[in-house]
Amino acid sequence: MTALARASGAVNLGQAMPDFDGPAVLRTAAAGAMAAGRNQYGPSAGEPELRRAVAERPALAGRYDPEREVTITAGATEALAAAMLALLDPGDEVLLIEPFYDSYPAMVALAGAIAVPVAMERVPPAGAGLSWRLPVDALAAAAGPRTRMIVVNTPHNPTGRVLGPAELGALADLARRHDLYVLTDEVYEELWFDAPHVSPAAVDGLRERTVVCGSVSKSLSVCGWRVGWALAPAELTAAIRVVHRFLSFCAPPPLQLAVAEALRARAAGGYFDELRETYRRRRDLLAGALAAAGLPAAPAQGSTFLVADTSGWWDGEPLAVARELVRAAGVAGLPLTSFCARGENARGVLRFAFCKDLETLAEAGRRLRSAAPAVAAVRLGGDR
Ligand code: PMP
Repeated sequence: MTALARASGAVNLGQAMPDFDGPAVLRTAAAGAMAAGRNQYGPSAGEPELRRAVAERPALAGRYDPEREVTITAGATEALAAAMLALLDPGDEVLLIEPFYDSYPAMVALAGAIAVPVAMERVPPAGAGLSWRLPVDALAAAAGPRTRMIVVNTPHNPTGRVLGPAELGALADLARRHDLYVLTDEVYEELWFDAPHVSPAAVDGLRERTVVCGSVSKSLSVCGWRVGWALAPAELTAAIRVVHRFLSFCAPPPLQLAVAEALRARAAGGYFDELRETYRRRRDLLAGALAAAGLPAAPAQGSTFLVADTSGWWDGEPLAVARELVRAAGVAGLPLTSFCARGENARGVLRFAFCKDLETLAEAGRRLRSAAPAVAAVRLGGDR
Protein backbone atom coordinates (compact mmCIF):
# COMPACT_ATOMS: atom_id res chain seq x y z
CA MET A 1 0.00 0.00 0.00
CA THR A 2 2.93 2.34 0.69
CA ALA A 3 4.32 1.78 -2.82
CA LEU A 4 0.86 2.34 -4.29
CA ALA A 5 0.35 5.47 -2.17
CA ARG A 6 3.69 6.85 -3.29
CA ALA A 7 3.08 6.10 -6.96
CA SER A 8 -0.33 7.77 -6.93
CA GLY A 9 0.35 10.68 -4.58
CA ALA A 10 -2.11 9.38 -1.98
CA VAL A 11 -2.01 10.47 1.67
CA ASN A 12 -0.44 7.43 3.27
CA LEU A 13 -2.24 6.49 6.48
CA GLY A 14 -1.28 2.86 5.91
CA GLN A 15 2.22 2.88 7.27
CA ALA A 16 2.57 3.42 11.02
CA MET A 17 5.68 5.57 10.93
CA PRO A 18 5.45 8.91 12.79
CA ASP A 19 6.10 11.83 10.43
CA PHE A 20 7.57 13.91 13.26
CA ASP A 21 10.69 13.56 15.34
CA GLY A 22 11.13 12.70 19.02
CA PRO A 23 12.35 15.15 21.69
CA ALA A 24 15.54 17.11 20.96
CA VAL A 25 17.30 15.81 24.08
CA LEU A 26 17.58 12.44 22.31
CA ARG A 27 19.63 13.81 19.46
CA THR A 28 21.96 15.94 21.59
CA ALA A 29 22.52 13.12 24.10
CA ALA A 30 23.20 10.57 21.31
CA ALA A 31 25.63 12.94 19.58
CA GLY A 32 27.33 13.55 22.93
CA ALA A 33 27.70 9.82 23.60
CA MET A 34 29.14 9.26 20.12
CA ALA A 35 31.58 12.17 20.52
CA ALA A 36 32.60 10.73 23.90
CA GLY A 37 33.59 7.47 22.20
CA ARG A 38 30.76 5.18 23.33
CA ASN A 39 30.77 3.52 19.92
CA GLN A 40 31.89 -0.06 20.65
CA TYR A 41 29.97 -3.05 22.00
CA GLY A 42 28.25 -2.40 25.29
CA PRO A 43 27.07 -4.96 27.87
CA SER A 44 24.86 -7.45 26.05
CA ALA A 45 22.08 -7.11 28.66
CA GLY A 46 22.01 -3.36 28.02
CA GLU A 47 23.61 -0.20 29.38
CA PRO A 48 22.99 -0.15 33.16
CA GLU A 49 21.67 3.45 33.01
CA LEU A 50 18.99 2.41 30.55
CA ARG A 51 18.07 -0.76 32.42
CA ARG A 52 17.55 1.38 35.53
CA ALA A 53 15.51 3.99 33.63
CA VAL A 54 13.31 1.26 32.11
CA ALA A 55 12.78 -0.40 35.52
CA GLU A 56 11.81 2.97 37.04
CA ARG A 57 9.03 3.78 34.56
CA PRO A 58 5.86 4.47 36.56
CA ALA A 59 3.72 1.64 35.08
CA LEU A 60 5.88 -1.15 36.57
CA ALA A 61 8.16 0.80 38.92
CA GLY A 62 9.78 -1.32 41.60
CA ARG A 63 8.66 -4.62 40.12
CA TYR A 64 11.77 -5.54 38.09
CA ASP A 65 15.41 -5.73 39.16
CA PRO A 66 17.47 -3.91 36.50
CA GLU A 67 20.42 -6.23 37.13
CA ARG A 68 18.68 -9.56 36.61
CA GLU A 69 15.26 -8.90 35.09
CA VAL A 70 15.66 -6.21 32.41
CA THR A 71 17.23 -6.82 28.99
CA ILE A 72 17.69 -4.06 26.40
CA THR A 73 16.99 -5.27 22.86
CA ALA A 74 16.91 -3.99 19.28
CA GLY A 75 13.32 -2.76 19.51
CA ALA A 76 10.35 -4.70 20.81
CA THR A 77 10.62 -6.84 17.68
CA GLU A 78 13.81 -8.41 18.99
CA ALA A 79 12.42 -8.70 22.52
CA LEU A 80 9.44 -10.67 21.18
CA ALA A 81 11.72 -12.84 19.06
CA ALA A 82 14.16 -13.55 21.88
CA ALA A 83 11.34 -14.43 24.27
CA MET A 84 9.72 -16.84 21.82
CA LEU A 85 12.99 -18.50 20.82
CA ALA A 86 13.98 -18.80 24.48
CA LEU A 87 10.72 -20.14 25.89
CA LEU A 88 9.14 -22.24 23.13
CA ASP A 89 9.98 -25.77 22.06
CA PRO A 90 9.18 -27.15 18.61
CA GLY A 91 5.56 -28.30 18.51
CA ASP A 92 4.38 -26.00 21.32
CA GLU A 93 1.18 -24.14 20.54
CA VAL A 94 0.90 -20.36 20.89
CA LEU A 95 -2.42 -18.51 21.13
CA LEU A 96 -2.42 -15.40 18.92
CA ILE A 97 -5.35 -13.02 19.14
CA GLU A 98 -6.39 -12.02 15.63
CA PRO A 99 -5.93 -9.37 14.24
CA PHE A 100 -2.28 -9.43 15.33
CA TYR A 101 1.03 -7.72 14.57
CA ASP A 102 2.69 -9.61 11.77
CA SER A 103 5.93 -10.47 13.57
CA TYR A 104 4.11 -12.85 15.96
CA PRO A 105 3.30 -15.70 13.55
CA ALA A 106 6.68 -15.28 11.86
CA MET A 107 8.52 -15.68 15.16
CA VAL A 108 6.33 -18.57 16.28
CA ALA A 109 7.31 -20.30 13.03
CA LEU A 110 11.01 -19.55 13.51
CA ALA A 111 10.77 -21.14 16.97
CA GLY A 112 9.29 -24.27 15.34
CA ALA A 113 6.08 -23.74 17.30
CA ILE A 114 2.50 -23.66 16.04
CA ALA A 115 0.39 -20.51 15.92
CA VAL A 116 -3.24 -20.95 16.99
CA PRO A 117 -5.13 -17.83 15.86
CA VAL A 118 -8.25 -16.88 17.78
CA ALA A 119 -10.35 -14.02 16.38
CA MET A 120 -11.19 -11.06 18.60
CA GLU A 121 -14.90 -10.64 19.10
CA ARG A 122 -16.25 -8.05 16.71
CA VAL A 123 -19.22 -6.42 18.36
CA PRO A 124 -21.85 -5.42 15.81
CA PRO A 125 -21.62 -1.73 14.97
CA ALA A 126 -24.04 0.40 16.94
CA GLY A 127 -23.95 3.27 14.48
CA ALA A 128 -20.60 4.57 15.71
CA GLY A 129 -18.15 2.18 14.18
CA LEU A 130 -16.80 -1.18 15.24
CA SER A 131 -15.93 -2.42 18.64
CA TRP A 132 -13.76 -5.37 19.66
CA ARG A 133 -13.45 -7.58 22.74
CA LEU A 134 -10.96 -10.11 24.05
CA PRO A 135 -12.41 -13.48 22.96
CA VAL A 136 -12.25 -15.03 26.42
CA ASP A 137 -14.41 -18.10 25.71
CA ALA A 138 -12.82 -18.85 22.34
CA LEU A 139 -9.34 -18.60 23.86
CA ALA A 140 -10.32 -21.03 26.62
CA ALA A 141 -11.73 -23.41 24.00
CA ALA A 142 -8.54 -23.17 21.89
CA ALA A 143 -6.17 -23.85 24.80
CA GLY A 144 -5.11 -27.46 25.13
CA PRO A 145 -2.36 -29.64 26.57
CA ARG A 146 0.22 -28.42 24.04
CA THR A 147 -0.51 -24.71 24.52
CA ARG A 148 2.55 -23.05 26.02
CA MET A 149 2.08 -19.31 25.49
CA ILE A 150 -0.42 -16.55 24.77
CA VAL A 151 0.63 -13.30 23.10
CA VAL A 152 -1.23 -10.20 24.23
CA ASN A 153 -0.89 -6.72 22.75
CA THR A 154 -2.33 -3.80 24.72
CA PRO A 155 -2.87 -1.02 23.67
CA HIS A 156 -3.69 -2.96 20.56
CA ASN A 157 -2.51 -2.57 17.00
CA PRO A 158 -4.72 -2.44 14.95
CA THR A 159 -8.03 -2.14 16.87
CA GLY A 160 -6.98 0.51 19.40
CA ARG A 161 -8.36 -1.55 22.31
CA VAL A 162 -6.82 -1.12 25.76
CA LEU A 163 -7.60 -4.19 27.87
CA GLY A 164 -9.66 -3.39 30.97
CA PRO A 165 -9.67 -5.04 34.42
CA ALA A 166 -12.25 -7.72 33.57
CA GLU A 167 -10.36 -8.83 30.46
CA LEU A 168 -7.03 -8.81 32.31
CA GLY A 169 -8.58 -10.89 35.07
CA ALA A 170 -9.90 -13.40 32.53
CA LEU A 171 -6.45 -13.53 30.92
CA ALA A 172 -4.86 -14.27 34.30
CA ASP A 173 -7.38 -17.10 34.91
CA LEU A 174 -6.68 -18.61 31.52
CA ALA A 175 -2.90 -18.41 31.94
CA ARG A 176 -3.05 -19.98 35.39
CA ARG A 177 -5.47 -22.72 34.39
CA HIS A 178 -3.39 -23.77 31.40
CA ASP A 179 0.00 -22.90 32.89
CA LEU A 180 0.88 -20.52 30.03
CA TYR A 181 3.60 -17.98 29.51
CA VAL A 182 2.09 -14.56 28.78
CA LEU A 183 4.09 -12.58 26.26
CA THR A 184 2.90 -8.99 26.30
CA ASP A 185 3.59 -6.44 23.62
CA GLU A 186 3.26 -2.99 25.16
CA VAL A 187 4.92 -0.77 22.56
CA TYR A 188 1.95 1.64 22.76
CA GLU A 189 2.00 1.75 26.59
CA GLU A 190 2.17 5.56 26.72
CA LEU A 191 -0.51 6.03 24.06
CA TRP A 192 -3.82 5.57 25.89
CA PHE A 193 -6.60 8.13 25.79
CA ASP A 194 -9.26 7.08 28.32
CA ALA A 195 -8.44 4.64 31.11
CA PRO A 196 -4.67 4.27 31.65
CA HIS A 197 -2.89 1.25 30.23
CA VAL A 198 -2.35 -1.53 32.79
CA SER A 199 0.40 -4.03 32.08
CA PRO A 200 -0.73 -7.64 32.40
CA ALA A 201 2.42 -8.12 34.49
CA ALA A 202 0.83 -5.90 37.15
CA VAL A 203 -2.18 -8.23 37.47
CA ASP A 204 -2.18 -10.57 40.49
CA GLY A 205 -0.34 -13.78 39.81
CA LEU A 206 0.82 -12.92 36.29
CA ARG A 207 4.29 -11.45 36.85
CA GLU A 208 5.96 -14.83 37.33
CA ARG A 209 4.78 -16.17 33.97
CA THR A 210 4.93 -12.93 31.96
CA VAL A 211 7.49 -11.37 29.64
CA VAL A 212 6.84 -7.66 29.01
CA CYS A 213 8.14 -6.35 25.67
CA GLY A 214 8.32 -2.64 24.96
CA SER A 215 10.31 0.03 23.20
CA VAL A 216 10.67 3.76 22.61
CA SER A 217 9.75 3.45 18.91
CA LYS A 218 6.36 5.09 19.54
CA SER A 219 6.67 6.70 22.98
CA LEU A 220 9.69 8.79 21.94
CA SER A 221 8.91 8.73 18.18
CA VAL A 222 12.23 7.14 17.17
CA CYS A 223 11.22 3.87 15.53
CA GLY A 224 14.46 3.84 13.52
CA TRP A 225 16.65 3.73 16.61
CA ARG A 226 15.79 0.14 17.49
CA VAL A 227 15.84 0.44 21.27
CA GLY A 228 13.47 -1.76 23.24
CA TRP A 229 13.35 -4.14 26.18
CA ALA A 230 12.18 -7.40 27.68
CA LEU A 231 11.23 -7.53 31.37
CA ALA A 232 10.85 -10.95 32.96
CA PRO A 233 11.55 -12.86 36.18
CA ALA A 234 15.25 -13.67 36.58
CA GLU A 235 15.01 -17.27 35.41
CA LEU A 236 13.20 -16.34 32.20
CA THR A 237 15.50 -13.36 31.68
CA ALA A 238 18.54 -15.64 31.83
CA ALA A 239 17.14 -17.66 28.92
CA ILE A 240 16.10 -14.55 26.97
CA ARG A 241 19.57 -13.03 27.38
CA VAL A 242 21.25 -16.10 25.91
CA VAL A 243 19.14 -15.78 22.75
CA HIS A 244 19.53 -11.98 22.62
CA ARG A 245 23.33 -12.37 22.74
CA PHE A 246 23.19 -14.30 19.46
CA LEU A 247 20.47 -12.27 17.76
CA SER A 248 21.81 -8.72 17.99
CA PHE A 249 24.27 -8.85 20.92
CA CYS A 250 23.33 -5.30 21.92
CA ALA A 251 21.31 -2.29 20.80
CA PRO A 252 23.52 0.69 19.80
CA PRO A 253 25.12 2.00 23.03
CA PRO A 254 25.02 5.76 22.22
CA LEU A 255 21.33 5.48 21.45
CA GLN A 256 20.70 3.48 24.62
CA LEU A 257 22.43 6.20 26.67
CA ALA A 258 20.38 8.92 24.98
CA VAL A 259 17.15 7.02 25.58
CA ALA A 260 18.07 6.59 29.27
CA GLU A 261 18.50 10.35 29.59
CA ALA A 262 15.30 11.13 27.68
CA LEU A 263 13.19 8.63 29.65
CA ARG A 264 14.24 10.16 32.95
CA ALA A 265 13.81 13.77 31.77
CA ARG A 266 10.56 13.11 29.93
CA ALA A 267 8.83 11.19 32.71
CA ALA A 268 9.66 14.00 35.16
CA GLY A 269 8.62 16.76 32.75
CA GLY A 270 5.12 15.55 31.88
CA TYR A 271 6.16 14.78 28.30
CA PHE A 272 3.96 11.71 28.05
CA ASP A 273 0.85 13.63 29.14
CA GLU A 274 1.49 16.10 26.32
CA LEU A 275 2.15 13.26 23.88
CA ARG A 276 -1.21 11.71 24.76
CA GLU A 277 -2.94 15.05 24.33
CA THR A 278 -1.49 15.62 20.84
CA TYR A 279 -2.35 12.05 19.83
CA ARG A 280 -5.88 12.52 21.18
CA ARG A 281 -6.27 15.54 18.89
CA ARG A 282 -4.99 13.54 15.93
CA ARG A 283 -7.32 10.66 16.75
CA ASP A 284 -10.36 12.94 17.06
CA LEU A 285 -9.58 14.77 13.84
CA LEU A 286 -9.26 11.57 11.83
CA ALA A 287 -12.24 9.87 13.52
CA GLY A 288 -14.38 12.94 12.72
CA ALA A 289 -13.22 12.99 9.10
CA LEU A 290 -13.88 9.28 8.63
CA ALA A 291 -17.35 9.53 10.19
CA ALA A 292 -18.23 12.59 8.07
CA ALA A 293 -17.27 10.65 4.96
CA GLY A 294 -19.42 7.65 5.93
CA LEU A 295 -16.58 5.40 7.13
CA PRO A 296 -17.28 5.15 10.88
CA ALA A 297 -14.52 4.09 13.26
CA ALA A 298 -14.81 3.35 16.96
CA PRO A 299 -12.76 5.85 18.99
CA ALA A 300 -9.43 4.15 19.70
CA GLN A 301 -8.81 3.77 23.44
CA GLY A 302 -5.09 3.64 22.71
CA SER A 303 -2.40 3.02 20.05
CA THR A 304 -2.15 5.19 16.93
CA PHE A 305 -4.82 3.50 14.83
CA LEU A 306 -8.46 3.70 13.88
CA VAL A 307 -10.19 0.79 12.20
CA ALA A 308 -13.02 1.94 9.97
CA ASP A 309 -16.00 0.12 8.60
CA THR A 310 -15.99 0.70 4.81
CA SER A 311 -19.13 -1.28 4.07
CA GLY A 312 -21.04 1.98 3.50
CA TRP A 313 -18.77 2.65 0.50
CA TRP A 314 -18.04 -0.79 -0.88
CA ASP A 315 -18.66 -4.33 0.15
CA GLY A 316 -15.63 -6.24 -0.91
CA GLU A 317 -12.51 -8.12 -0.08
CA PRO A 318 -10.44 -5.73 2.15
CA LEU A 319 -7.34 -5.54 -0.09
CA ALA A 320 -9.52 -4.61 -3.07
CA VAL A 321 -11.29 -2.01 -0.93
CA ALA A 322 -7.94 -0.53 0.18
CA ARG A 323 -6.84 -0.22 -3.45
CA GLU A 324 -10.17 1.27 -4.44
CA LEU A 325 -9.88 3.89 -1.69
CA VAL A 326 -6.50 5.01 -3.05
CA ARG A 327 -8.00 5.30 -6.52
CA ALA A 328 -11.25 7.02 -5.55
CA ALA A 329 -10.08 9.27 -2.69
CA GLY A 330 -6.28 9.41 -2.76
CA VAL A 331 -6.03 8.07 0.79
CA ALA A 332 -4.24 4.84 1.73
CA GLY A 333 -5.20 2.56 4.64
CA LEU A 334 -4.31 -1.06 5.32
CA PRO A 335 -6.74 -3.95 4.93
CA LEU A 336 -7.38 -5.61 8.28
CA THR A 337 -6.71 -8.93 6.59
CA SER A 338 -2.99 -8.09 6.63
CA PHE A 339 -3.16 -8.65 10.42
CA CYS A 340 -5.01 -11.94 10.19
CA ALA A 341 -4.37 -15.59 9.43
CA ARG A 342 -8.02 -16.32 8.68
CA GLY A 343 -9.63 -12.90 8.72
CA GLU A 344 -13.21 -13.92 9.33
CA ASN A 345 -13.85 -10.67 11.24
CA ALA A 346 -11.88 -8.47 8.87
CA ARG A 347 -14.24 -8.05 5.96
CA GLY A 348 -14.80 -4.43 4.98
CA VAL A 349 -12.38 -3.08 7.59
CA LEU A 350 -9.37 -0.82 6.97
CA ARG A 351 -6.78 0.44 9.44
CA PHE A 352 -5.73 4.09 9.36
CA ALA A 353 -2.67 5.37 11.27
CA PHE A 354 -2.98 8.76 12.95
CA CYS A 355 0.69 9.17 13.95
CA LYS A 356 0.81 11.95 11.34
CA ASP A 357 0.88 15.71 11.60
CA LEU A 358 -2.47 17.47 11.85
CA GLU A 359 -2.28 18.99 8.36
CA THR A 360 -1.74 15.54 6.80
CA LEU A 361 -4.78 14.20 8.66
CA ALA A 362 -6.86 17.23 7.66
CA GLU A 363 -5.90 16.71 4.02
CA ALA A 364 -6.93 13.05 4.26
CA GLY A 365 -10.27 14.23 5.68
CA ARG A 366 -10.81 16.71 2.84
CA ARG A 367 -10.09 14.03 0.25
CA LEU A 368 -12.42 11.52 1.87
CA ARG A 369 -15.25 14.03 2.12
CA SER A 370 -14.93 15.13 -1.48
CA ALA A 371 -14.81 11.53 -2.77
CA ALA A 372 -17.82 10.34 -0.75
CA PRO A 373 -20.61 11.73 -2.98
CA ALA A 374 -19.10 10.21 -6.16
CA VAL A 375 -18.74 6.82 -4.47
CA ALA A 376 -22.35 7.04 -3.23
CA ALA A 377 -23.57 7.98 -6.72
CA VAL A 378 -21.85 4.97 -8.29
CA ARG A 379 -23.23 2.75 -5.55
CA LEU A 380 -26.76 3.99 -6.08
CA GLY A 381 -26.35 3.65 -9.83
CA GLY A 382 -25.19 0.08 -9.35
CA ASP A 383 -28.14 -0.74 -7.12
CA ARG A 384 -30.55 0.45 -9.78
N1 PMP B 1 4.43 -4.51 18.19
C1 PMP B 1 3.44 -3.79 17.64
C2 PMP B 1 2.03 -4.10 17.99
C3 PMP B 1 3.75 -2.79 16.72
O1 PMP B 1 2.75 -2.09 16.15
C4 PMP B 1 5.09 -2.51 16.40
C5 PMP B 1 5.52 -1.44 15.47
N2 PMP B 1 4.66 -1.01 14.53
C6 PMP B 1 6.07 -3.30 17.01
C7 PMP B 1 5.72 -4.28 17.90
C8 PMP B 1 7.52 -3.12 16.69
O2 PMP B 1 8.13 -2.30 17.64
P1 PMP B 1 9.65 -1.95 17.56
O3 PMP B 1 9.83 -0.82 16.62
O4 PMP B 1 9.98 -1.56 18.97
O5 PMP B 1 10.39 -3.17 17.14
